[in-house]
Amino acid sequence: MKFTNLTRRTEIGANSYFLEIDGHGVVLDCGMHPKFEGEEALPNFKPLQDRQLDAIIVSHAHQDHIGTLPVLMRRQPGARVFMPEATTAIGEALLHNSVNVMTRQREELGVMLYPLFTHRETDRATDLWQSCPMNQRVTISGERARPDESGILTFEFFDAGHVLGSAGILLRGESQSVFYTGDVNFDDQTIMQTAVFPEEGVDILIMECTRGDHETPPDWSRESEEHRLAEAIVHAFDQGGCVLIPVFALGKTQELLAMVYKFKRANLLPDCPIYIGGLSAKMTEIYDARSGMSRRHLPRLQLLPEVDPFVLNGQNIRDAEARAGRIYALSSGMMTAKTLSNIFARRLIENPQHSIFFVGYADPLSPAGILRQAKPGQEIALGSDEPPQRVRCNLQQFQFSAHASRESLISYAKKLAPKKVVLVHGDPPAVDWVRAKLLTELPGAEVIVPTPGQELEL
Ligand SMILES: [Zn+2]
Ligand SMILES: [Zn+2]
Repeated sequence: MKFTNLTRRTEIGANSYFLEIDGHGVVLDCGMHPKFEGEEALPNFKPLQDRQLDAIIVSHAHQDHIGTLPVLMRRQPGARVFMPEATTAIGEALLHNSVNVMTRQREELGVMLYPLFTHRETDRATDLWQSCPMNQRVTISGERARPDESGILTFEFFDAGHVLGSAGILLRGESQSVFYTGDVNFDDQTIMQTAVFPEEGVDILIMECTRGDHETPPDWSRESEEHRLAEAIVHAFDQGGCVLIPVFALGKTQELLAMVYKFKRANLLPDCPIYIGGLSAKMTEIYDARSGMSRRHLPRLQLLPEVDPFVLNGQNIRDAEARAGRIYALSSGMMTAKTLSNIFARRLIENPQHSIFFVGYADPLSPAGILRQAKPGQEIALGSDEPPQRVRCNLQQFQFSAHASRESLISYAKKLAPKKVVLVHGDPPAVDWVRAKLLTELPGAEVIVPTPGQELEL
């Protein structure tokens, strides 16, 4: 089996991985870099130049895993495209939104390569996607396989507990099996339930490392963290301010809406208006439509009618004042320039009455990453074109990550005991910690940090 890391650096960027297994070419994920524009936002497709892919398999519909899929489909018209069912619906909404964002970036930033694809091409691409259920073996040509099928390459999705429609991908070849975690969570969230991953029969594990540089406090629990958040919101309202929570449209928005629903029912929070973005509303609709058929907590909860959020978009955000006693759960989670959360944060930063709460992962060099590390009174700019501002608002951090803790990643790898572990989807300090830990905790296994663009024999 051969493996090539198609990301451009050891980082959480445009995730994409090429596997050659039993003579088949398979790409796992095809993301877009959340921080860069143009060519730099794409995975490095050069190693695929003279190869024909049989399949592209997508783990879930976050931008960093599906964002450039139409580009790869254009270059590889013969490849079949597989993903979990909910990911087809979410991916379609995300990519159409991405066309709009790229079109704006072309106008505002002069990125001439944008849009990388059009609405029409997105429609043509989504028509070709094949959705597959969880825990069903499928042949690489898209047919249902028997559980004991042998002599033919198959794949199978396993619920990853990260966001709706997220899966780990198990490929079984003639002599080797490889399991790619995608983004995974081994803890329950408010809506999502913990991952159900294979526990044996995997030779090679390709594992994400997002939280490798974060130790989980020994007394941390989601329940106590939820309480801390509810109290902090009430306190922020008592100060006469509002609360901005930068969130990803997919996943964190719905988890937060579910928390607000729980807080209000438990009288932990007064009845307060909550605002979300247009894409987040679309994603929430998809969560609601699948509430009864997906594996999750609160299966009967319909977020949109029950929590009844107001929807902000690129136009009405300009007139939306920061009003006391309100929650603004706006994307993007990293507060990327020109996004709703970035525009709104710039209105709050200098006002000590207002609060900004961070609830998940943000790249340390993204505006959210920079702001969360800022000291009171420090001057920072939330974008290269933005003027510096003095930080006077209340900043607080909470741990509601949709990613596995580093401790649970290590214990999963130990339980699975593969021959080789390939570490991906992490900043260098995160990957280094996981690597060092596995070398002592799993001494029989070979631990590999794949150099981007270099073919590896596994
Ligand atoms: Zn993700
Ligand atoms: Zn990711």
